Amino acid sequence: MDRPLGKEVRTPYSITDYLGKVQKTLSGCWLLPNKPLRNGYVRLCFGTGGMLAHRWFYEQLVGKIPKNKCVCHHCDIRNCVNPNHLFVGTHSDNTQDAKRKNRLAHPTHQRILREDQVQKIRIRLNNNETCANIAKDYPVTNWAIHSIKQQKNWRTI
Ligand SMILES: [Zn+2]
Repeated sequence: MDRPLGKEVRTPYSITDYLGKVQKTLSGCWLLPNKPLRNGYVRLCFGTGGMLAHRWFYEQLVGKIPKNKCVCHHCDIRNCVNPNHLFVGTHSDNTQDAKRKNRLAHPTHQRILREDQVQKIRIRLNNNETCANIAKDYPVTNWAIHSIKQQKNWRTI
């Protein structure tokens, strides 16, 4: 173990150092210049290990995170560290949150049609209009119309 002792000392550890690096967006998010991980979170590396940036900011500015709890984002920006955008939730809250985020990240899963539009589309499909023809009138793909036809989406309507 010949760890280069002293090297980590240069890493800023204090919240003040990190606050100086934060870039505030128009929506009020605080973003660190660190490159996010593949999952969207920023990990801060300290001499003794690492910690997810938003959890670290929460602990520094709000308080200790209760055991087995997650820190979730109101703003859905995973690399945001603004304590006002963070809340403590359970793992299942976080999963729900992740599912919601996933839908937002994949526009094909997004419900961009209003219920009344879907009802009109159903009527046109019942009149044997083609999906392509109907899709021209709405901000969706033929596939989306097709899946309404197949009842894959909007099953409740
Ligand atoms: Zn935010």
